Amino acid sequence: MAEVPKSLECPICFDIMEAKILICDRGHSFCSCCHRRLKLCPFCGDSMIDTRNLLLEKVVKAYWKDPSTFRNRMREQLKVEMPVRRSLKKY
Ligand SMILES: [Zn+2]
Ligand SMILES: [Zn+2]
Repeated sequence: MAEVPKSLECPICFDIMEAKILICDRGHSFCSCCHRRLKLCPFCGDSMIDTRNLLLEKVVKAYWKDPSTFRNRMREQLKVEMPVRRSLKKY
């Protein structure tokens, strides 16, 4: 089985996050199950808020699409986001 990146695990139940990821007032992320069970964040003690971590949800979605190639695809994406300006000055 492919290695699961740590940032995709819920820090409470250690399951890989699924569709809905919610955060506390300071931005710690939890799966929706743990978020529902906890009133206060176990890391900072702030209250849980009803805000979703959309960026992480996107990453998790990409992971579930094909876990075995997830790392390579993420690496490719990083390459695309770093523009190569020199190649534009050809003539
Ligand atoms: Zn959880
Ligand atoms: Zn917190």
